[in-house]
Amino acid sequence: MKAAWEGIVAIATGFATTLKHLFRKPITEEYPEYKRVLPERARAVIILTRDPDGEERCVACYLCSAACPVSCISMQSVEREDGRRYARWFRINFGRCIYCGLCEEACPTSAIQLTPYFETCERDILKLVYEKEDLLVDHGGKDKEYNFYRYAGVVSKVGDKGAHIKEDKPVNIKSNMP
Ligand code: SF4
Ligand code: SF4
Repeated sequence: MKAAWEGIVAIATGFATTLKHLFRKPITEEYPEYKRVLPERARAVIILTRDPDGEERCVACYLCSAACPVSCISMQSVEREDGRRYARWFRINFGRCIYCGLCEEACPTSAIQLTPYFETCERDILKLVYEKEDLLVDHGGKDKEYNFYRYAGVVSKVGDKGAHIKEDKPVNIKSNMP
């Protein structure tokens, strides 16, 4: 008798829950009619940003490529006459990318950044291979102020070591000897 009563209570509780939800406002978001605004830190399509001077931030150091767990970043580095490096070509295969963000973490110049934009579905998988022209934008992305080249990277004929902005004087290793 006790078991039968417990069964009735369990069924009644289940139906009560169903009934309660029948009169609730649905919370389903009808994509693509409704598009939720994703937070800035959301990880989707990758861009290559520029510094505040409008120069390409990427110095083609290959760190993002080395950090990428699925090897979907490739490039070729070249050097300008003033010693500044850049990528002659830069390619990301979004057909392989898992949007982990490790490339962004590894980048010393804040060049490569993930954005919240995710609508890149393609029937032809080769269209997911993005070249530098597709990736390069004309702004600084999430980090608008950072300018790697104000501190390092260019061969300079002005001033001695330690004379540049926020640069420490070179250490005299002999002075550290006991
Ligand atoms: S987000 Fe991850 S998988 Fe995609 S390119 Fe960057 S490191 Fe590679
Ligand atoms: S995007 Fe960043 S990590 Fe990748 S090659 Fe350019 S500077 Fe190096």
